Amino acid sequence: MPIPGHIDPVPVARAFAPRADGRVDLLGLSKDDLRMALGTSQLEPKQAKLRAKQLWHWIYNRGVADFALMTDISKAMRPWLEQRFVISRPEVVETQVSTDGTRKWLLRSDANDAQGTQDYEMVFIPDADRGTLCVSSQIGCTLNCRFCHTGTMRLVRNLTPAEIVGQVMLARDALGEWPSQPEGRMLTNIVMMGMGEPLYNFDSVRDALRIVMDGDGLGLSRRRITLSTSGVVPMIKRAGEEIGVNLAVSLHAVTNEVRDEIVPLNRKYGIHELLQACADYPGANNARRITFEYVMLRDKNDSDAEAHELVRLIREYRLPAKVNLIPFNPWPGAPYECSTPERVRAFSNIVFEAGISAPVRTPRGRDIDAACGQLKTAAEKKSRAELDREAATAAV
Ligand code: SAH
Ligand code: SF4
Repeated sequence: MPIPGHIDPVPVARAFAPRADGRVDLLGLSKDDLRMALGTSQLEPKQAKLRAKQLWHWIYNRGVADFALMTDISKAMRPWLEQRFVISRPEVVETQVSTDGTRKWLLRSDANDAQGTQDYEMVFIPDADRGTLCVSSQIGCTLNCRFCHTGTMRLVRNLTPAEIVGQVMLARDALGEWPSQPEGRMLTNIVMMGMGEPLYNFDSVRDALRIVMDGDGLGLSRRRITLSTSGVVPMIKRAGEEIGVNLAVSLHAVTNEVRDEIVPLNRKYGIHELLQACADYPGANNARRITFEYVMLRDKNDSDAEAHELVRLIREYRLPAKVNLIPFNPWPGAPYECSTPERVRAFSNIVFEAGISAPVRTPRGRDIDAACGQLKTAAEKKSRAELDREAATAAV
């Protein structure tokens, strides 16, 4: 099924496409593809099956990226693997640590990328009871939400499954969390809330998350993974069926008029269509609620009337919902300001009093531009007029 909506051409590396050095990257391949990659390198099917099982364990359970360290694979076989394959990691360009402990990594795409190297970011947010990795799905974003810094980047391309799962691997490396174990990890949760719209890179996000959830490897439960979308309605059902993680929806407004302005994708898929898709989301129930993200923009979407309307909409569609109120994180040249703390509290109280959880998110990592919507790497910046023109065309 073609991915709907306006997207720039985004070449994704084909499985087994060798790198410039002729070797095939095993990271990000599904179990079947890993076995096939070994099979096409002249291993007997039975051998390929056994080796694939061993490699999977080394790669995703032990975090080993060097064939020489794989002790249950015969010594003679290790150089054979090394000549043909590689287990990649994203290249780290820079690491920053916030005063609140949030860490941000600037990562670089493979130097063999036909379009040249491109940078993207991931963020780790430690809390007392959990550690959340905020993972990127694209370099840049085509959707141009007016309050989001990433939206001012030209979309360069989709990230590959290797680059998406590679972010998780790298975080485990940095936190010293190999081998994978169910208890006592720092990295407990994953949110697809970094750069990009995950449902515009559906196949790669799905394939990468399936690897992250695999019980023989990284072993993160789907209940600890949340995918956030700005509202790509036709893909929401598939996300539930084929990935099955928690859903977060960037609602941000309760009327089409306001949402059209701040989330231009709304001109294509309006609020009612979006809320109906949420009501139909497979697996949503009172124990697994859908999160509605709501960025608090001063005098734009933060009135008492809008809080009441939010409650009414959630009730109208009978949504098992919670609301995350996100104080707007500023960036240079942003056209909005954050609502006052009193306004945010008043808004939150109205939603809470209706029996719907509506915590106010404490901004994390603002000092290193790691907070929601602040991610942006060096890429040609578009003018506001250019963005508006594109949004208008995308909405047609
Ligand atoms: N593209 C996806 C996921 C990435 S954005 C989406 O839009 O849902 C993660 C969250 O940060 C979204 O809810 C987004 O709307 C919000 N966000 C973007 N810019 C922000 C800003 N400047 N301040 C606060 N939240 C912002
Ligand atoms: Fe893209 Fe999400 Fe930012 Fe909108 S908020 S521009 S969809 S990353």
